[in-house]
Amino acid sequence: MSHTPNLALIEHVARVLGAAGIACTMVKDDAGACANLFASTGPADVPGVMLSGHTDVVPVEGQPWTTPPFKATVCDNRLYGRGSADMKGFVACAVVAMLDASARTLKKPLQLALSYDEEIGCVGVRRLIDVLETAPVRPELCVVGEPTMMQIATGHKGKAVYRAVCCGEEGHSALAPRYRNAIHVATDWIVAMRAAQQQLAQHGAYDDGYDVPYSTIHVGTIHGGKALNIVPNECTLDFEIRTLANDRADAILDDIRARAAHDGHTPLPDIEDVNAYPGLDTHVASDAVRFLEALLPPDTRKRKVAFGTEGGLSWLRVFSSWRNRLKGPPGFGFTPWHESARIPTL
Ligand SMILES: [Zn+2]
Repeated sequence: MSHTPNLALIEHVARVLGAAGIACTMVKDDAGACANLFASTGPADVPGVMLSGHTDVVPVEGQPWTTPPFKATVCDNRLYGRGSADMKGFVACAVVAMLDASARTLKKPLQLALSYDEEIGCVGVRRLIDVLETAPVRPELCVVGEPTMMQIATGHKGKAVYRAVCCGEEGHSALAPRYRNAIHVATDWIVAMRAAQQQLAQHGAYDDGYDVPYSTIHVGTIHGGKALNIVPNECTLDFEIRTLANDRADAILDDIRARAAHDGHTPLPDIEDVNAYPGLDTHVASDAVRFLEALLPPDTRKRKVAFGTEGGLSWLRVFSSWRNRLKGPPGFGFTPWHESARIPTL
């Protein structure tokens, strides 16, 4: 699971690939408990194809599993288990593909990138991208094995997560107007957020490839107040901005601030950055998409997905200098497994 060590899994994959003569590089976290893995087989001096997967899964506590979540149960020709669709099935297939490729003479390398802690905001892969970003030869395209029912996903939204800390003054509620109520500050901020959302929905960037075709703003949690007769001095909001790939969360945040300030709501909350990953927008006519289309059945659809992937970060940092050459950056997702066990993630 996310937040738990994956080193044993990564070392196992490294042993399996190493036995086939495939060189592996591990990129660990500070504690040495979690690691990314990068492996490559084939020529080292030309760009290749990278298969990308994350090794963590989301928790199972409180969920009504009818099979052991951490064992693979095959039933009616389907495999059930936490992460079988997202995305251990793909990871297993990718490892086998690497072994198969190592026995062949390749014109271009086949590469494998495995990460940790993807489900909590694409946290682990960033260290691996630091390494790939400076490599003398970068991959030509990347296949991200997220579940898309075997369709080609060419894009997803980016996400920025924030915490708003609203400050007030504590006092007895009998004298409420004399004190600044932190919950009232928070609700003013929410009013500004909702006005900004309305603007985005009516006049913002638009992409009908998504179920919700514009960037979105959402408050997930609100905490504040001690008792009804005490004016609260602190209230916190956790909120997110999900952006179309060409929208910027910081610009939307600035718009919310401007609206709140314009309405005379002072002081504004302190905004803390919690986490963010960028969106992905692969051109549907790119060489990379055409390459994959040629491999898949002719009725394979192209779509965009509602969840985030590590593809956005790779697109921005590893492939950005390749955009012109490829007529658009790469990035895909498909899975060899049915989505039976899939739980919505990011
Ligand atoms: Zn996933």
